[in-house]
Amino acid sequence: MNEEDIYDVTIIGGGPAGMYAAFYAGMREMKVKVIEGKDQLGGFLHTYSDKTIWDVGGVPPMTCSRLIEWLVQQANTFDPTVVLNCSIERFTPMDNRLFALHTSGGELHYSRTIIIAIGRGIAEIQRLDMEEAHEYERSNLHYTVQSTERFKGKHVLISGGGNSAVDWTIELAEQAKTVTVVHRQEEFRAMERNVKHMKNITDVRTPYQITQLYGNGERIHQVAITHVHTGENILLEVDEIVVSHGYTSHVSDIARCGLEMSEGMIVMSRFAETNIPGIFSAGDCATHESKVRLIAGAFNDAIVAVNSAKQYLNPQAPQMAYVSSHNDLFREKNRQITGWGTFGKQASSSL
Ligand SMILES: Cc1cc2nc3c(=O)[nH]c(=O)nc-3n(C[C@H](O)[C@H](O)[C@H](O)COP(=O)(O)OP(=O)(O)OC[C@H]3O[C@@H](n4cnc5c(N)ncnc54)[C@H](O)[C@@H]3O)c2cc1C
Repeated sequence: MNEEDIYDVTIIGGGPAGMYAAFYAGMREMKVKVIEGKDQLGGFLHTYSDKTIWDVGGVPPMTCSRLIEWLVQQANTFDPTVVLNCSIERFTPMDNRLFALHTSGGELHYSRTIIIAIGRGIAEIQRLDMEEAHEYERSNLHYTVQSTERFKGKHVLISGGGNSAVDWTIELAEQAKTVTVVHRQEEFRAMERNVKHMKNITDVRTPYQITQLYGNGERIHQVAITHVHTGENILLEVDEIVVSHGYTSHVSDIARCGLEMSEGMIVMSRFAETNIPGIFSAGDCATHESKVRLIAGAFNDAIVAVNSAKQYLNPQAPQMAYVSSHNDLFREKNRQITGWGTFGKQASSSL
């Protein structure tokens, strides 16, 4: 291991907590690495990327995908090392107050401190469990709705029973020619008012599930749905299919590396410390008495965790970073963007 392989802080997880920690650790002039299990930063926000988000301080209502773009941009301010598609399985303490982080692929990363920001684990979309489904993901089988435009005047089939499925049904019903909803349970797990509205404006089939896709290799034309109890089959003509079956989360063994846990979450002090010196935690994977399980809460945890990591490495370091508005670190960057005022103008004009 060379000196350049060693980081001051390695952040496991590139969700809101991890991204904000990367930015803030840059402000504290730490050598930062972010390790993310998926092929992109953003964390759980990707699972509702099409939704409009209102409750993040200081930003106007915007789609989550737009917020992700902004967060990624901010996280990269101080050029941290970002490793994607890399899942950390565990960490082990080494000599000289170093930690080794072990990836699922068998590689090692080295760090003086670690911030665990793994949120709800690595989320995977629940896909249709059918061999033929995969080949239609590029055409008319969708797991998310990027734009409602393509559903205009079409026969749409939606499978799912949660809030997301119900929300999309209502929204697409305004544009589509017909919308049929298939759910394998009688009851929907969504807001009652929305379920009632959905039932009024669409063709709801329960308890049915998709059992067969019929297509020509390029597009699906028909879908067989089967009654869960009677086995009765119905063939539906379709133009577009939306499957909204939720997500599964893979939680690694990190939590079993001697960390104190409570109800599946890492116990952290009000200084974001875990029970292992040098290991800190932030975001939804952590718990403490006043934990706020929101993006804003993740940001706050991230600041506290970075400040604690900095002081762990250098007990003489100030308790927090110097404010950004008067911080010399930004002098050159401010010049490049001709002042934060201009940044604000650019940002809002692109909304
Ligand atoms: C449906 C829904 C709607 C929501 N709406 C809002 C809202 O409107 N406003 C709001 O403020 N909050 C909202 N939230 C909450 C918000 O999404 C979370 O508080 C936030 O995502 C927590 O961020 P995080 O970084 O802690 O975790 P996550 O966003 O879960 O990110 C964790 C990251 O760690 C990665 N990871 C996990 N394990 C490993 C590993 N072993 N190795 C490497 N990487 C790993 C994951 O892939 C992921 O990218 C909502 C949540 C849900 C479920």
